[in-house]
Amino acid sequence: SVLTVTTEEEMEQAFDARKAALLVQELRKSFNSGKTKSYEWRAAQLQSISKMIDEREKEIIQALQLDLSKPELEAFVSEISMTQSSCQKALKDLKRWMAPEKVSTSITTYPSSAEIVSEPFGVVLIISTWNYPFLLSLDPVIGAIAAGNAIVLKPSEIAPATSSLLAGLLSEYVDRSTIKVVEGAVPETSALLDQKWDKIFYTGSTRVGHIVMAAAAKHLTPVVLELGGKCPAIVDSNINLEVAARRMIAGKWACNNGQACIAIDYIVTTKSFAPKLVAALQLTLEEFFGKNPLESQDMSRIVNLYHFKRLAKLLDEDGTSDKIVLGGQRDENNLRIAPTILLDVPEDSLIMQEEIFGPLLPILTVDNIEDGFHMINSKPKPLAAYLFSDDNGLQKQFVQNISAGGMLINDAVLHLTVPTLPFGGVGDSGMGAYHGKFSFDAFSHKKGILYRSFKGDASTRYPPYTPEKQRLL
Ligand code: NAD
Repeated sequence: SVLTVTTEEEMEQAFDARKAALLVQELRKSFNSGKTKSYEWRAAQLQSISKMIDEREKEIIQALQLDLSKPELEAFVSEISMTQSSCQKALKDLKRWMAPEKVSTSITTYPSSAEIVSEPFGVVLIISTWNYPFLLSLDPVIGAIAAGNAIVLKPSEIAPATSSLLAGLLSEYVDRSTIKVVEGAVPETSALLDQKWDKIFYTGSTRVGHIVMAAAAKHLTPVVLELGGKCPAIVDSNINLEVAARRMIAGKWACNNGQACIAIDYIVTTKSFAPKLVAALQLTLEEFFGKNPLESQDMSRIVNLYHFKRLAKLLDEDGTSDKIVLGGQRDENNLRIAPTILLDVPEDSLIMQEEIFGPLLPILTVDNIEDGFHMINSKPKPLAAYLFSDDNGLQKQFVQNISAGGMLINDAVLHLTVPTLPFGGVGDSGMGAYHGKFSFDAFSHKKGILYRSFKGDASTRYPPYTPEKQRLL
């Protein structure tokens, strides 16, 4: 048997609960100094992040290449420029967000005035994921800075190049006494989760979401949970199929090869329309990724062997593999799986039970499009739900009858780019939301304040409660 010896140096380096406690203590001290509360501190950090993105773009793209073979254009559009615009939006609106909001008062407090003051929670923990490892780490950090918090970011170990780049870049560009990065996997995250935080913002799987929330409950720490799930798309027959097919493909395979929390997970359409839909998808897929998609450079690879095997298992299940109508090819050495469409897989198959998070797309068929609503509602609430239909009545029904974190009609994924819309889940897909002002709010406590003077003191509220006073009620 092999005896593993932990050297003193390794013990010294290990990030354990003791180190996590010291880290939080240090951050709390910095936070208590009050420096993160000033507009100047917040704006300076945001400006530095913006500068960092501009100056280090090449390294960011390179890290995303190493972690995911993410095509350069995709990396630029969906990670770099999204993070930059989030930063710019925060800088532009920061003063307005920070300003106390005057609100009306009630007759019982007359004369008085009232306002809502946004105060930072304090020391916050942000745990991030690997699929958009740059954006999904920095976007919440931007919100937490804008709201004036001290921050620990724990990027995902599954995207190690981006994780280590983020650790280096942030320590170079932002205030190191208040914004820290801890790299690591489950042991490091568990050590962090043992500490008392003032807010935890977690992006990742629903399974780990339970662990995060249980840890937070010990300290009554509020959480934002940005989780996953199976995002459905209902596809009606009255659509512009050419445009719709392009958008569906963009919302699946051109979206980190399906490894996106709001990528289309499965499609529901009518029995009669399904063949036309499959044909249109096939045609456009070939146009986008060529005849041999395993070799296309315009698609991310599967992140690692574990996820490759997980996806292969979904395909290989008895009763599923014979439903493949397009694709199915794989290349384990290069972690590539071709865009794969499956028609009419059994509803109780593995692929319909768990989030796919990869390039496989089941299409389920129903007699009437409305039957798709029941199918969606019989599953846990998704992070996003999509409808492709020109029928206004159906659009209304969809919005009214389906519960989802967010919705997009006649396209996929793009709702995430609109900062005036809250982005977050409901039920199993999470709680809380961010983006734009919602990010600032996610990291702020809303403190209600009532101001009174000593004028106009009505004696009616004080004892003794004489019959005259009671008559006034
Ligand atoms: P994950 O939950 O495995 O990992 C996310 C983070 O949690 C990582 O930083 C990891 O180190 C940490 N972690 C993992 N296991 C842990 C444990 N036992 N204890 C403590 N920490 C632990 O998720 P993932 O595989 O990285 O991400 C995929 C999931 O994330 C999908 O379900 C996807 O839909 C979801 N997601 C959601 C959003 C969103 O915005 N809602 C965005 C991206 C991904």
